[in-house]
Amino acid sequence: MLDSDVIIIGAGIAGLTCGCLLAQKGLRVLIFEKNQKMGGCCTSFQKEGFSFDLSVQSLGECQEGGRIWKLIKRLGLLDHLHFIPLEPAREYHFPGQRIIQSSHLETHIETLSTLFPKERRGIEQIYKVLRKIFDEYSQLPSSLDWFNPTSLSSQYPLLFHYKEKTFEQLLDEHVSNPFLKMILSIRSSYALLPPEEISVVGMAGIEMSYFNHGVSCVRGVVEDLPLKMGYAFEKMGGKIVPKEEVEKILIENKRAIGTRSVGGQEYRGRVVVSNIDARTTFFTLVGENHFPSSYRSKLKGMRPSYSYFILYLGIEGEVEELPVSNNEIFSDRELSKEYQSLRDHRILEGAPFYLLVPSKVNPSHAPRGKSTLCLSLKAPYEFEEGWNQRGVRRLSQYLIERASTIIPNLKKRVLIKIETTPLTIERWTGNHEGAAYGWAQIPGQSGIHRLPRITPIPNLFLTGHWTSPGGGIAAVVASGELTAEVIGSRLERGEV
Ligand SMILES: Cc1cc2nc3c(=O)[nH]c(=O)nc-3n(C[C@H](O)[C@H](O)[C@H](O)COP(=O)(O)OP(=O)(O)OC[C@H]3O[C@@H](n4cnc5c(N)ncnc54)[C@H](O)[C@@H]3O)c2cc1C
Repeated sequence: MLDSDVIIIGAGIAGLTCGCLLAQKGLRVLIFEKNQKMGGCCTSFQKEGFSFDLSVQSLGECQEGGRIWKLIKRLGLLDHLHFIPLEPAREYHFPGQRIIQSSHLETHIETLSTLFPKERRGIEQIYKVLRKIFDEYSQLPSSLDWFNPTSLSSQYPLLFHYKEKTFEQLLDEHVSNPFLKMILSIRSSYALLPPEEISVVGMAGIEMSYFNHGVSCVRGVVEDLPLKMGYAFEKMGGKIVPKEEVEKILIENKRAIGTRSVGGQEYRGRVVVSNIDARTTFFTLVGENHFPSSYRSKLKGMRPSYSYFILYLGIEGEVEELPVSNNEIFSDRELSKEYQSLRDHRILEGAPFYLLVPSKVNPSHAPRGKSTLCLSLKAPYEFEEGWNQRGVRRLSQYLIERASTIIPNLKKRVLIKIETTPLTIERWTGNHEGAAYGWAQIPGQSGIHRLPRITPIPNLFLTGHWTSPGGGIAAVVASGELTAEVIGSRLERGEV
Protein backbone atom coordinates (compact mmCIF):
# COMPACT_ATOMS: atom_id res chain seq x y z
CA MET A 1 0.00 0.00 0.00
CA LEU A 2 1.36 3.42 -0.95
CA ASP A 3 1.46 6.04 1.82
CA SER A 4 1.94 8.83 -0.70
CA ASP A 5 2.96 9.69 -4.24
CA VAL A 6 6.05 11.59 -3.15
CA ILE A 7 8.13 11.27 0.02
CA ILE A 8 10.51 14.16 0.73
CA ILE A 9 13.31 13.75 3.25
CA GLY A 10 13.99 17.11 4.92
CA ALA A 11 11.90 20.28 5.26
CA GLY A 12 14.61 22.70 4.16
CA ILE A 13 13.53 25.50 1.82
CA ALA A 14 14.17 23.25 -1.21
CA GLY A 15 12.14 20.35 0.22
CA LEU A 16 9.28 22.70 1.08
CA THR A 17 9.35 24.35 -2.36
CA CYS A 18 9.36 21.00 -4.14
CA GLY A 19 6.62 19.69 -1.81
CA CYS A 20 4.38 22.73 -2.29
CA LEU A 21 4.60 22.60 -6.08
CA LEU A 22 3.86 18.89 -6.24
CA ALA A 23 1.00 19.16 -3.73
CA GLN A 24 -0.38 22.00 -5.85
CA LYS A 25 -0.58 19.51 -8.74
CA GLY A 26 -2.83 17.34 -6.58
CA LEU A 27 -0.18 14.76 -5.65
CA ARG A 28 -0.06 13.24 -2.17
CA VAL A 29 3.18 14.51 -0.65
CA LEU A 30 4.71 13.56 2.68
CA ILE A 31 7.68 15.45 4.16
CA PHE A 32 9.77 13.98 6.99
CA GLU A 33 11.82 16.41 9.06
CA LYS A 34 14.17 15.32 11.81
CA ASN A 35 13.80 18.55 13.79
CA GLN A 36 10.72 19.92 15.49
CA LYS A 37 11.07 23.05 13.33
CA MET A 38 11.11 23.32 9.55
CA GLY A 39 13.52 25.36 7.48
CA GLY A 40 16.92 23.70 8.03
CA CYS A 41 19.56 26.45 7.78
CA CYS A 42 16.75 28.99 7.39
CA THR A 43 15.64 29.17 11.01
CA SER A 44 15.60 31.47 14.03
CA PHE A 45 15.89 31.21 17.81
CA GLN A 46 14.93 33.33 20.81
CA LYS A 47 16.71 34.07 24.06
CA GLU A 48 15.82 36.45 26.89
CA GLY A 49 13.66 38.69 24.74
CA PHE A 50 16.10 38.75 21.79
CA SER A 51 15.50 36.98 18.46
CA PHE A 52 18.26 35.76 16.18
CA ASP A 53 18.20 34.35 12.67
CA LEU A 54 20.52 31.36 12.70
CA SER A 55 21.99 31.95 9.32
CA VAL A 56 20.13 33.65 6.53
CA GLN A 57 20.58 37.40 6.87
CA SER A 58 20.09 38.64 3.34
CA LEU A 59 18.12 37.21 0.48
CA GLY A 60 18.08 37.74 -3.26
CA GLU A 61 15.05 37.48 -5.58
CA CYS A 62 12.43 38.54 -3.00
CA GLN A 63 11.31 41.80 -4.53
CA GLU A 64 8.54 41.99 -7.11
CA GLY A 65 9.25 39.70 -10.07
CA GLY A 66 12.06 37.77 -8.32
CA ARG A 67 12.06 33.98 -8.09
CA ILE A 68 11.17 33.85 -4.38
CA TRP A 69 8.54 36.57 -4.81
CA LYS A 70 6.94 34.57 -7.64
CA LEU A 71 6.88 31.42 -5.52
CA ILE A 72 5.33 33.25 -2.58
CA LYS A 73 2.72 34.67 -4.94
CA ARG A 74 1.98 31.25 -6.42
CA LEU A 75 1.46 29.88 -2.90
CA GLY A 76 -0.93 32.74 -2.01
CA LEU A 77 1.44 34.08 0.65
CA LEU A 78 2.03 37.63 -0.59
CA ASP A 79 -0.14 39.04 2.23
CA HIS A 80 1.54 36.86 4.83
CA LEU A 81 5.24 37.37 4.16
CA HIS A 82 6.94 40.72 3.80
CA PHE A 83 10.46 41.54 2.74
CA ILE A 84 12.46 44.60 3.72
CA PRO A 85 14.69 45.89 0.91
CA LEU A 86 18.29 46.47 1.99
CA GLU A 87 19.64 49.48 0.10
CA PRO A 88 22.55 49.97 0.33
CA ALA A 89 23.07 46.25 0.69
CA ARG A 90 26.38 46.24 2.51
CA GLU A 91 29.35 48.31 3.61
CA TYR A 92 32.93 47.09 3.31
CA HIS A 93 35.48 48.52 5.75
CA PHE A 94 39.14 48.46 4.71
CA PRO A 95 41.93 50.17 6.64
CA GLY A 96 41.38 53.85 5.80
CA GLN A 97 38.57 53.26 3.28
CA ARG A 98 34.88 52.34 3.21
CA ILE A 99 32.98 51.13 0.18
CA ILE A 100 29.21 51.05 0.09
CA GLN A 101 27.63 48.46 -2.13
CA SER A 102 24.28 49.18 -3.68
CA SER A 103 21.82 46.38 -4.33
CA HIS A 104 21.20 47.87 -7.79
CA LEU A 105 23.70 46.77 -10.41
CA GLU A 106 23.80 50.05 -12.34
CA THR A 107 24.56 52.03 -9.17
CA HIS A 108 27.19 49.49 -8.14
CA ILE A 109 28.91 49.69 -11.55
CA GLU A 110 28.81 53.49 -11.36
CA THR A 111 30.38 53.52 -7.86
CA LEU A 112 33.22 51.25 -8.95
CA SER A 113 33.75 53.09 -12.22
CA THR A 114 34.03 56.40 -10.33
CA LEU A 115 36.69 54.86 -8.09
CA PHE A 116 38.52 53.22 -11.02
CA PRO A 117 37.67 55.37 -14.08
CA LYS A 118 40.14 53.64 -16.40
CA GLU A 119 38.53 50.27 -15.70
CA ARG A 120 34.92 51.22 -16.45
CA ARG A 121 34.69 49.14 -19.61
CA GLY A 122 36.19 46.08 -17.94
CA ILE A 123 33.79 46.37 -14.99
CA GLU A 124 30.82 46.60 -17.36
CA GLN A 125 32.08 43.63 -19.36
CA ILE A 126 32.43 41.44 -16.27
CA TYR A 127 28.85 42.06 -15.20
CA LYS A 128 27.63 41.57 -18.76
CA VAL A 129 29.22 38.12 -18.84
CA LEU A 130 27.87 37.23 -15.39
CA ARG A 131 24.35 38.30 -16.36
CA LYS A 132 24.46 36.36 -19.61
CA ILE A 133 25.70 33.22 -17.87
CA PHE A 134 23.04 33.55 -15.19
CA ASP A 135 20.33 33.94 -17.86
CA GLU A 136 21.60 30.97 -19.85
CA TYR A 137 21.80 28.84 -16.71
CA SER A 138 18.27 29.83 -15.68
CA GLN A 139 16.99 28.70 -19.07
CA LEU A 140 18.47 25.19 -18.90
CA PRO A 141 15.63 22.66 -19.03
CA SER A 142 15.17 20.73 -15.77
CA SER A 143 15.91 17.42 -17.47
CA LEU A 144 18.82 18.57 -19.63
CA ASP A 145 21.04 15.93 -21.19
CA TRP A 146 24.21 17.06 -19.43
CA PHE A 147 26.29 14.65 -21.40
CA ASN A 148 25.55 16.07 -24.83
CA PRO A 149 28.08 18.91 -25.15
CA THR A 150 27.07 19.91 -28.69
CA SER A 151 23.58 20.96 -27.59
CA LEU A 152 25.19 22.95 -24.80
CA SER A 153 27.77 24.80 -26.86
CA SER A 154 25.26 26.03 -29.43
CA GLN A 155 22.35 26.91 -27.14
CA TYR A 156 24.28 28.07 -24.08
CA PRO A 157 27.53 29.48 -25.51
CA LEU A 158 28.75 31.47 -22.49
CA LEU A 159 27.86 28.78 -20.00
CA PHE A 160 29.80 26.35 -22.15
CA HIS A 161 32.75 28.69 -22.70
CA TYR A 162 33.19 29.43 -18.99
CA LYS A 163 32.30 26.02 -17.61
CA GLU A 164 35.85 25.21 -16.47
CA LYS A 165 36.92 28.77 -15.57
CA THR A 166 37.38 30.50 -12.27
CA PHE A 167 36.21 34.00 -11.48
CA GLU A 168 39.86 35.09 -11.23
CA GLN A 169 40.31 34.15 -14.89
CA LEU A 170 37.32 36.29 -15.85
CA LEU A 171 38.73 39.20 -13.83
CA ASP A 172 42.13 38.86 -15.53
CA GLU A 173 40.47 39.05 -18.93
CA HIS A 174 38.91 42.44 -18.19
CA VAL A 175 40.51 44.45 -15.35
CA SER A 176 43.98 44.97 -13.97
CA ASN A 177 43.91 47.00 -10.71
CA PRO A 178 44.50 44.52 -7.83
CA PHE A 179 42.28 46.42 -5.36
CA LEU A 180 39.45 46.58 -7.90
CA LYS A 181 39.84 42.83 -8.46
CA MET A 182 39.54 42.34 -4.73
CA ILE A 183 36.40 44.46 -4.47
CA LEU A 184 34.83 42.67 -7.42
CA SER A 185 35.62 39.36 -5.71
CA ILE A 186 34.33 40.17 -2.24
CA ARG A 187 31.02 38.46 -2.72
CA SER A 188 32.74 35.19 -3.67
CA SER A 189 32.94 34.92 0.11
CA TYR A 190 29.17 34.21 0.00
CA ALA A 191 30.25 30.84 -1.33
CA LEU A 192 33.18 30.78 1.11
CA LEU A 193 35.70 30.62 -1.74
CA PRO A 194 38.43 32.94 -3.05
CA PRO A 195 38.30 34.23 -6.66
CA GLU A 196 40.98 31.80 -7.77
CA GLU A 197 38.74 28.88 -6.77
CA ILE A 198 35.14 29.91 -7.34
CA SER A 199 33.72 29.09 -10.77
CA VAL A 200 32.47 31.89 -13.02
CA VAL A 201 29.10 30.11 -13.05
CA GLY A 202 28.97 30.01 -9.23
CA MET A 203 29.85 33.69 -9.03
CA ALA A 204 27.20 34.54 -11.65
CA GLY A 205 24.59 32.89 -9.42
CA ILE A 206 25.70 34.81 -6.34
CA GLU A 207 25.93 38.20 -8.01
CA MET A 208 22.88 38.06 -10.23
CA SER A 209 20.48 36.53 -7.73
CA TYR A 210 21.18 39.63 -5.63
CA PHE A 211 21.30 42.26 -8.33
CA ASN A 212 18.30 40.99 -10.33
CA HIS A 213 15.68 41.81 -7.74
CA GLY A 214 17.50 43.62 -4.96
CA VAL A 215 18.69 42.39 -1.57
CA SER A 216 16.15 41.91 1.20
CA CYS A 217 15.54 40.38 4.58
CA VAL A 218 12.35 38.87 5.93
CA ARG A 219 10.26 41.27 8.04
CA GLY A 220 10.11 39.63 11.47
CA VAL A 221 12.18 36.48 11.73
CA VAL A 222 13.55 34.44 8.85
CA GLU A 223 11.85 31.26 10.08
CA ASP A 224 8.53 32.84 9.04
CA LEU A 225 9.48 31.86 5.49
CA PRO A 226 9.53 28.05 6.06
CA LEU A 227 6.69 28.32 8.56
CA LYS A 228 4.34 30.02 6.10
CA MET A 229 5.43 27.71 3.28
CA GLY A 230 4.61 24.81 5.59
CA TYR A 231 1.08 26.19 6.21
CA ALA A 232 0.56 26.61 2.47
CA PHE A 233 1.80 23.05 1.88
CA GLU A 234 -0.59 21.56 4.43
CA LYS A 235 -3.48 23.65 3.13
CA MET A 236 -2.90 22.04 -0.27
CA GLY A 237 -3.18 18.59 1.30
CA GLY A 238 0.50 17.89 1.97
CA LYS A 239 1.63 16.42 5.28
CA ILE A 240 4.75 17.30 7.28
CA VAL A 241 5.91 14.91 9.96
CA PRO A 242 8.30 16.70 12.34
CA LYS A 243 10.78 14.87 14.59
CA GLU A 244 10.86 12.00 12.11
CA GLU A 245 14.42 11.18 11.10
CA VAL A 246 14.79 8.99 8.05
CA GLU A 247 17.51 6.35 8.44
CA LYS A 248 17.02 4.32 5.24
CA ILE A 249 15.81 4.75 1.70
CA LEU A 250 14.14 1.47 0.77
CA ILE A 251 15.33 -0.06 -2.48
CA GLU A 252 13.51 -2.87 -4.29
CA ASN A 253 14.44 -4.16 -7.74
CA LYS A 254 17.06 -1.39 -7.87
CA ARG A 255 14.39 1.34 -7.47
CA ALA A 256 13.60 3.62 -4.55
CA ILE A 257 10.25 2.56 -3.11
CA GLY A 258 10.06 4.39 0.22
CA THR A 259 11.79 5.22 3.50
CA ARG A 260 12.35 3.83 6.98
CA SER A 261 12.54 6.18 9.95
CA VAL A 262 14.62 5.84 13.09
CA GLY A 263 12.20 3.82 15.18
CA GLY A 264 11.48 1.39 12.33
CA GLN A 265 8.37 2.93 10.72
CA GLU A 266 8.31 2.26 6.96
CA TYR A 267 6.56 4.41 4.36
CA ARG A 268 5.97 3.70 0.69
CA GLY A 269 5.94 6.26 -2.13
CA ARG A 270 6.21 6.29 -5.93
CA VAL A 271 9.02 8.80 -5.69
CA VAL A 272 11.55 9.67 -2.97
CA VAL A 273 13.23 13.09 -2.88
CA SER A 274 16.24 13.79 -0.70
CA ASN A 275 16.68 17.38 0.50
CA ILE A 276 19.49 16.33 2.83
CA ASP A 277 23.25 15.99 2.62
CA ALA A 278 24.13 14.06 -0.56
CA ARG A 279 26.81 11.88 1.02
CA THR A 280 24.47 10.86 3.84
CA THR A 281 21.75 10.19 1.26
CA PHE A 282 23.88 7.73 -0.66
CA PHE A 283 26.38 6.27 1.80
CA THR A 284 24.04 5.97 4.81
CA LEU A 285 20.44 6.02 3.61
CA VAL A 286 20.83 4.13 0.33
CA GLY A 287 23.91 2.00 1.00
CA GLU A 288 27.01 1.63 -1.18
CA ASN A 289 25.93 -1.61 -2.85
CA HIS A 290 22.93 0.06 -4.49
CA PHE A 291 24.69 2.58 -6.75
CA PRO A 292 27.47 2.38 -9.36
CA SER A 293 31.10 2.53 -8.29
CA SER A 294 31.73 5.51 -10.63
CA TYR A 295 29.11 7.52 -8.74
CA ARG A 296 30.64 6.38 -5.44
CA SER A 297 34.09 7.63 -6.47
CA LYS A 298 32.62 10.89 -7.73
CA LEU A 299 30.89 11.53 -4.39
CA LYS A 300 33.98 10.61 -2.41
CA GLY A 301 36.10 13.05 -4.39
CA MET A 302 33.72 15.99 -4.01
CA ARG A 303 34.41 18.91 -1.71
CA PRO A 304 31.87 20.56 0.61
CA SER A 305 31.82 24.31 1.20
CA TYR A 306 33.36 25.74 4.37
CA SER A 307 31.28 26.76 7.33
CA TYR A 308 31.01 29.61 9.87
CA PHE A 309 31.78 30.44 13.45
CA ILE A 310 29.04 32.83 14.58
CA LEU A 311 28.72 34.93 17.71
CA TYR A 312 25.21 36.28 18.40
CA LEU A 313 25.01 39.14 20.87
CA GLY A 314 22.17 40.95 22.58
CA ILE A 315 23.54 44.35 23.60
CA GLU A 316 22.52 47.48 25.47
CA GLY A 317 21.64 50.54 23.36
CA GLU A 318 21.16 51.32 19.67
CA VAL A 319 23.97 50.97 17.14
CA GLU A 320 23.95 54.46 15.61
CA GLU A 321 27.61 54.24 14.58
CA LEU A 322 26.87 52.05 11.58
CA PRO A 323 24.69 53.49 8.81
CA VAL A 324 23.84 50.05 7.33
CA SER A 325 23.01 46.74 8.97
CA ASN A 326 25.38 44.51 6.96
CA ASN A 327 29.08 45.19 7.27
CA GLU A 328 32.23 43.34 6.34
CA ILE A 329 35.48 44.30 8.06
CA PHE A 330 38.93 43.67 6.60
CA SER A 331 42.32 44.21 8.15
CA ASP A 332 44.07 44.40 4.77
CA ARG A 333 43.35 44.26 1.06
CA GLU A 334 44.05 40.60 0.44
CA LEU A 335 41.67 37.67 0.40
CA SER A 336 43.97 34.75 -0.35
CA LYS A 337 45.78 34.60 3.04
CA GLU A 338 42.52 33.94 4.83
CA TYR A 339 41.67 31.00 2.60
CA GLN A 340 45.16 29.57 2.94
CA SER A 341 44.60 29.45 6.72
CA LEU A 342 41.23 27.74 6.28
CA ARG A 343 42.89 25.09 4.12
CA ASP A 344 45.39 24.61 6.98
CA HIS A 345 42.49 24.24 9.47
CA ARG A 346 43.25 27.57 11.08
CA ILE A 347 41.52 30.94 11.35
CA LEU A 348 43.85 33.73 10.33
CA GLU A 349 45.07 36.17 12.96
CA GLY A 350 43.28 39.37 11.85
CA ALA A 351 40.79 37.45 9.69
CA PRO A 352 38.07 39.51 7.98
CA PHE A 353 34.68 39.21 9.67
CA TYR A 354 31.03 40.05 9.13
CA LEU A 355 29.30 42.45 11.49
CA LEU A 356 25.55 42.45 11.14
CA VAL A 357 23.07 44.50 13.13
CA PRO A 358 19.80 42.68 12.39
CA SER A 359 17.74 44.75 14.87
CA LYS A 360 18.55 47.84 12.83
CA VAL A 361 16.26 46.59 10.05
CA ASN A 362 14.05 44.39 12.22
CA PRO A 363 13.59 46.28 15.52
CA SER A 364 11.39 43.43 16.82
CA HIS A 365 14.59 41.35 17.24
CA ALA A 366 15.53 43.25 20.40
CA PRO A 367 13.66 44.74 23.36
CA ARG A 368 13.30 48.55 23.25
CA GLY A 369 16.62 50.38 23.63
CA LYS A 370 18.64 47.24 22.94
CA SER A 371 20.15 45.69 19.79
CA THR A 372 21.21 42.41 18.28
CA LEU A 373 24.59 41.83 16.67
CA CYS A 374 25.79 38.87 14.68
CA LEU A 375 29.58 38.58 14.27
CA SER A 376 30.93 35.78 12.14
CA LEU A 377 34.04 34.27 10.64
CA LYS A 378 34.56 31.73 7.90
CA ALA A 379 35.51 28.51 9.63
CA PRO A 380 36.98 25.10 8.81
CA TYR A 381 35.23 21.99 10.15
CA GLU A 382 38.45 20.56 11.50
CA PHE A 383 39.80 23.43 13.52
CA GLU A 384 43.42 23.11 14.65
CA GLU A 385 42.57 24.51 18.09
CA GLY A 386 39.50 22.27 18.38
CA TRP A 387 35.91 23.38 18.72
CA ASN A 388 36.21 23.24 22.50
CA GLN A 389 35.49 25.88 25.11
CA ARG A 390 38.96 27.38 24.83
CA GLY A 391 38.90 27.70 21.02
CA VAL A 392 35.37 29.12 21.07
CA ARG A 393 36.22 31.62 23.84
CA ARG A 394 39.28 32.84 21.94
CA LEU A 395 37.30 33.45 18.75
CA SER A 396 34.51 35.24 20.66
CA GLN A 397 37.04 37.50 22.34
CA TYR A 398 38.73 38.18 19.01
CA LEU A 399 35.43 39.18 17.40
CA ILE A 400 34.36 41.40 20.29
CA GLU A 401 37.81 43.11 20.36
CA ARG A 402 37.67 43.80 16.63
CA ALA A 403 34.04 44.96 16.66
CA SER A 404 34.83 47.25 19.62
CA THR A 405 36.92 49.42 17.32
CA ILE A 406 33.68 50.21 15.46
CA ILE A 407 31.09 50.00 18.23
CA PRO A 408 32.39 51.83 21.29
CA ASN A 409 32.18 50.14 24.72
CA LEU A 410 30.91 46.97 23.11
CA LYS A 411 32.42 44.72 25.79
CA LYS A 412 30.52 46.48 28.55
CA ARG A 413 27.27 46.53 26.59
CA VAL A 414 26.97 42.76 26.04
CA LEU A 415 23.87 41.33 27.75
CA ILE A 416 23.72 37.87 26.20
CA LYS A 417 26.06 35.84 24.05
CA ILE A 418 25.51 32.65 22.02
CA GLU A 419 28.13 30.94 19.89
CA THR A 420 27.66 28.45 17.06
CA THR A 421 30.40 26.47 15.30
CA PRO A 422 30.42 24.25 12.19
CA LEU A 423 29.52 21.40 14.56
CA THR A 424 26.31 23.20 15.58
CA ILE A 425 25.32 23.67 11.93
CA GLU A 426 26.13 20.02 11.20
CA ARG A 427 24.05 18.82 14.16
CA TRP A 428 21.07 21.01 13.28
CA THR A 429 20.90 20.44 9.52
CA GLY A 430 22.74 17.15 9.05
CA ASN A 431 24.94 18.87 6.42
CA HIS A 432 28.33 17.21 6.77
CA GLU A 433 31.16 19.36 8.03
CA GLY A 434 28.54 22.05 8.71
CA ALA A 435 28.80 23.00 5.01
CA ALA A 436 26.89 26.25 4.63
CA TYR A 437 26.21 25.97 0.89
CA GLY A 438 26.39 22.27 -0.04
CA TRP A 439 29.21 21.42 -2.45
CA ALA A 440 31.81 24.15 -2.89
CA GLN A 441 31.14 26.12 -6.09
CA ILE A 442 34.44 25.24 -7.77
CA PRO A 443 34.40 24.69 -11.56
CA GLY A 444 34.26 20.88 -11.33
CA GLN A 445 31.23 21.07 -9.01
CA SER A 446 29.15 23.88 -10.42
CA GLY A 447 27.10 24.70 -13.49
CA ILE A 448 26.77 21.65 -15.69
CA HIS A 449 29.17 19.76 -13.39
CA ARG A 450 27.00 20.03 -10.28
CA LEU A 451 25.63 16.78 -8.89
CA PRO A 452 22.45 16.23 -10.97
CA ARG A 453 19.00 16.09 -9.37
CA ILE A 454 18.31 12.87 -11.28
CA THR A 455 20.23 10.09 -9.51
CA PRO A 456 21.43 6.69 -10.76
CA ILE A 457 18.65 5.10 -8.69
CA PRO A 458 15.28 5.18 -10.47
CA ASN A 459 12.61 7.12 -8.52
CA LEU A 460 15.17 8.80 -6.24
CA PHE A 461 15.77 12.54 -6.84
CA LEU A 462 17.77 15.26 -5.13
CA THR A 463 16.80 18.80 -4.27
CA GLY A 464 18.58 21.59 -2.37
CA HIS A 465 22.08 22.93 -2.09
CA TRP A 466 23.80 19.57 -2.74
CA THR A 467 22.45 19.59 -6.29
CA SER A 468 22.03 22.35 -8.89
CA PRO A 469 22.11 25.26 -9.04
CA GLY A 470 23.72 25.51 -5.56
CA GLY A 471 23.57 27.17 -2.15
CA GLY A 472 21.63 30.21 -0.95
CA ILE A 473 17.87 30.55 -0.52
CA ALA A 474 17.14 31.83 -4.03
CA ALA A 475 19.16 28.95 -5.51
CA VAL A 476 17.49 26.24 -3.41
CA VAL A 477 14.06 27.62 -4.30
CA ALA A 478 15.14 27.18 -7.94
CA SER A 479 16.32 23.69 -7.07
CA GLY A 480 12.99 22.78 -5.46
CA GLU A 481 11.12 24.08 -8.51
CA LEU A 482 13.30 22.18 -10.97
CA THR A 483 13.06 18.91 -9.04
CA ALA A 484 9.27 19.28 -8.85
CA GLU A 485 9.20 19.91 -12.60
CA VAL A 486 11.15 16.74 -13.42
CA ILE A 487 9.05 14.62 -11.07
CA GLY A 488 5.78 16.14 -12.28
CA SER A 489 6.54 15.41 -15.91
CA ARG A 490 7.82 11.89 -15.20
CA LEU A 491 4.72 11.05 -13.19
CA GLU A 492 2.53 12.43 -15.97
CA ARG A 493 4.34 10.29 -18.53
CA GLY A 494 4.06 7.27 -16.23
CA GLU A 495 7.84 6.99 -16.06
CA VAL A 496 8.04 6.22 -12.35
C1 LIG B 1 25.63 30.25 8.66
C2 LIG B 1 24.94 30.31 7.33
C3 LIG B 1 24.65 31.55 6.76
C4 LIG B 1 23.95 31.62 5.55
N1 LIG B 1 23.58 32.84 5.07
C5 LIG B 1 22.80 32.92 3.95
C6 LIG B 1 22.28 34.17 3.51
O1 LIG B 1 22.48 35.22 4.13
N2 LIG B 1 21.53 34.18 2.37
C7 LIG B 1 21.23 33.03 1.67
O2 LIG B 1 20.52 33.10 0.66
N3 LIG B 1 21.72 31.82 2.08
C8 LIG B 1 22.48 31.74 3.20
N4 LIG B 1 22.94 30.52 3.63
C9 LIG B 1 22.74 29.32 2.79
C10 LIG B 1 21.33 28.77 2.87
O3 LIG B 1 20.85 28.88 4.18
C11 LIG B 1 21.32 27.29 2.43
O4 LIG B 1 21.98 27.13 1.19
C12 LIG B 1 19.89 26.76 2.27
O5 LIG B 1 19.08 27.13 3.37
C13 LIG B 1 19.91 25.24 2.15
O6 LIG B 1 18.60 24.79 1.99
P1 LIG B 1 18.27 23.27 1.66
O7 LIG B 1 16.80 23.19 1.49
O8 LIG B 1 19.11 22.79 0.55
O9 LIG B 1 18.72 22.38 2.91
P2 LIG B 1 18.84 22.52 4.48
O10 LIG B 1 18.53 23.89 4.95
O11 LIG B 1 20.14 21.94 4.85
O12 LIG B 1 17.66 21.57 5.01
C14 LIG B 1 17.78 20.18 5.11
C15 LIG B 1 16.72 19.69 6.09
O13 LIG B 1 16.76 18.26 6.17
C16 LIG B 1 16.63 17.87 7.52
N5 LIG B 1 17.22 16.54 7.67
C17 LIG B 1 18.54 16.21 7.62
N6 LIG B 1 18.69 14.88 7.75
C18 LIG B 1 17.44 14.35 7.88
C19 LIG B 1 16.95 13.01 8.01
N7 LIG B 1 17.76 11.95 8.01
N8 LIG B 1 15.61 12.82 8.12
C20 LIG B 1 14.75 13.88 8.09
N9 LIG B 1 15.17 15.16 7.95
C21 LIG B 1 16.50 15.39 7.83
C22 LIG B 1 17.36 18.95 8.29
O14 LIG B 1 16.99 18.98 9.65
C23 LIG B 1 16.95 20.21 7.52
O15 LIG B 1 15.76 20.74 8.02
C24 LIG B 1 23.61 30.41 4.86
C25 LIG B 1 23.91 29.17 5.43
C26 LIG B 1 24.54 29.11 6.67
C27 LIG B 1 24.78 27.77 7.31
